[in-house]
Amino acid sequence: MHEAALTQGLVKILLREAERHQVSSIKRVWLKVGRMKAVEPQALVFCFGAFTEGTLAEGAELIIDPVPAVATCHGCGGDFEVIKFHFQCPRCQSRDVVLIQGDELYIESFDA
Ligand SMILES: [Zn+2]
Repeated sequence: MHEAALTQGLVKILLREAERHQVSSIKRVWLKVGRMKAVEPQALVFCFGAFTEGTLAEGAELIIDPVPAVATCHGCGGDFEVIKFHFQCPRCQSRDVVLIQGDELYIESFDA
């Protein structure tokens, strides 16, 4: 389960930011998560709860904002949503495509 390692890194960043802004507690956290990260939202919420225990973000609500995976095709110039890691243009069948969105994983903002 790679959610644990990802969450640990995010919580580290979150606590550093909280310190920088001198907040004493965090109530809500907005997270951008690209579909290509293939993370389970439930696992993420679970790990977040575990890693924030005993910190100033303990009990904070985690709000996950999913970002669809979108690729652009070099064959026909069209954009399409990538479903289940299927990197092929649905219009011209070209495999000469590049991901332009969906690889995100970062804290968008938080409420103190
Ligand atoms: Zn195409």
